[in-house]
Amino acid sequence: MASQKFELMTLPYAANALEPVISQQTIAFHHGKHLQAYVNNLNALLPGSGFEETPLVEIVKKSTGGIFNNAGQILNHELYFGQFRPAKADNQPTGNIANAITRDFGSFDAFKEEFQKKGATLFGSGWVWLSADANGKLVITQEANAANPVQKGLNPLLTFDVWEHAYYLDYQNRRPDHLAALWSIIDWQVVEQRYNAK
Ligand code: MN
Repeated sequence: MASQKFELMTLPYAANALEPVISQQTIAFHHGKHLQAYVNNLNALLPGSGFEETPLVEIVKKSTGGIFNNAGQILNHELYFGQFRPAKADNQPTGNIANAITRDFGSFDAFKEEFQKKGATLFGSGWVWLSADANGKLVITQEANAANPVQKGLNPLLTFDVWEHAYYLDYQNRRPDHLAALWSIIDWQVVEQRYNAK
């Protein structure tokens, strides 16, 4: 059977648009090298796997081993790179997602503190996620390596990548500083669209 070919996602902004929070050099390596490698690896593994025509999210839910690792990282990075916009002072959620954050965490500041703490304390490589459950309730989870909340039946809304490749060129070992800076470049309209979609 001929296999589908995944392609490197196009960034919805220029490679230098997120500076100084994420440098152009980090984008060049993170998107152009790391994510490209996951795409190339998955395409090489698909023929004969049984996942030749399976949608990406379903591959993440059903696969194991190398196929899972590369498919998971593609899904994770598409959600990650798709959630940013140029930095803005006092960047805050609005609308339904803002109301849900206040309802489920008490306040936006309390949510940010909890999310950053979960990101800073995740040992090794992985991701911290804000997701919605089937009832629309918001939850924060830590996922190791290539894991994604869709494996738990959750709808992933927002994520911080805590693999060192996401921040080492710009922040070296200062992961908490990197996480704190990311709030200014979150595109909350994208996050709310993801929330409203389910
Ligand atoms: Mn990454």
